[in-house]
Amino acid sequence: MASKLSLLLNDDFTPLNFVSPVRALNLLFRGRAEIVNLDGPSVWDVTYETPTKIYSAPATLRLKRRAPKIEVTPRFTKKALFNRDGWQCQYCGVDLDDRSVTIDHVVPKMRGGPRTWKNCVTACKKCNMKKGSRSLSESGLTLRKNPSAPKMHHFWDVQKKNFVWHSDWIYFIKRD
Ligand SMILES: [Zn+2]
Repeated sequence: MASKLSLLLNDDFTPLNFVSPVRALNLLFRGRAEIVNLDGPSVWDVTYETPTKIYSAPATLRLKRRAPKIEVTPRFTKKALFNRDGWQCQYCGVDLDDRSVTIDHVVPKMRGGPRTWKNCVTACKKCNMKKGSRSLSESGLTLRKNPSAPKMHHFWDVQKKNFVWHSDWIYFIKRD
């Protein structure tokens, strides 16, 4: 079953993480966070009952005090790489799926190119073949954008099937 999660924002409205609605309510009760107001409170049509009150599950909440941002390079996974590149060949721009997608090493493996976010891009089979074990300049191909480590939401998309997207999140998360 698809789950409805709460988007936790830092005090400056930048996204921090997704948490369960129960954890979100807990943050509210402890005065650590508040529900974000857009056209109204950003909540789900799901409620939680306590003996004295009924609470709506928060969709978007914001910490009252800044939490330190922890910059970590996320672990390399194929799926997140393809999500980062929007499932498009980074050379010719063609749309790809599970069967047609490949990973291209910008500095070829044969030349010691590592399997890292900066050195790997999504490619179609044709461009991957064309590039082969040549460098970017030798191949005559150009990259559509500079590869870098993916953002948090590239990982979230991996679980898209079990994930209900709340329309309010568009204001805080860029889905590129
Ligand atoms: Zn291509």
